[in-house]
Amino acid sequence: MKTIHSRLLADFSNLTALFTTRHGGVSKAPYINANLAFHVGDDPSDVLRNHDLLAQSLGYDRRLLVHMRQIHSDHITIIDDSHTFDTPPQCDALITDRKHTPLMVMSADCTPILLYDPVRNAIGAVHAGRAGALNAILPKTVQKMGNAFGSQSYDLRIVLGPSIHGCCYEINESIANETEAKGYPNALRQEEGKMFLDVNTILLQQLDEIGIAWDQIEMIDHCTSCRCDEYFSYRADHRRTGRMAGVILLK
Ligand SMILES: [Zn+2]
Repeated sequence: MKTIHSRLLADFSNLTALFTTRHGGVSKAPYINANLAFHVGDDPSDVLRNHDLLAQSLGYDRRLLVHMRQIHSDHITIIDDSHTFDTPPQCDALITDRKHTPLMVMSADCTPILLYDPVRNAIGAVHAGRAGALNAILPKTVQKMGNAFGSQSYDLRIVLGPSIHGCCYEINESIANETEAKGYPNALRQEEGKMFLDVNTILLQQLDEIGIAWDQIEMIDHCTSCRCDEYFSYRADHRRTGRMAGVILLK
């Protein structure tokens, strides 16, 4: 499966952290071809095969991977023995300090985010679209890693994966008003009477507000809609499409 590895996390030998693309799987149109989501109408046996291909290439046990039933919320789940591949919790962030337990966030325009605390050896995977970002799912996950594992914000490394950017994410006036009212006017762009939103600008502002420094952050600077040849894009693919994933794993 074709994947993109984080530069920021590359030097940690006890960690695997990457993002998948739409290439290297077995799914058929319109899910061509590395779709990892069961809920989008794809053949479940193809989706399972894609998961197995990814697990084999990365060397983890697919049955131990935890993914999510993502609902654009600010719900965060701490992963323990009760969570397995077949029982994904309903939430938009996963955190754990368990080894050999891959965490997976799926996306097709929303921002997939991977977090690592090299001091406490804890990890997180976050799904942040517009709603999740405006509900502060990312800073809430940082706080929860602090409560659960003693993670200090200045120790964290945070990677924002491929997502739709402000070049392509057109929004309506009420969303623009809500974004401005919540304190993120810099995330808005107006062009020829249309409004565009850059969710990553919200996320970066939130990280700045809780004291995360720039050198703790990496942003994969690819817009999924501009680059729908490489990534699934809910908008560019007209809603019927697959999902890619961010995966993080303590070895
Ligand atoms: Zn774009």
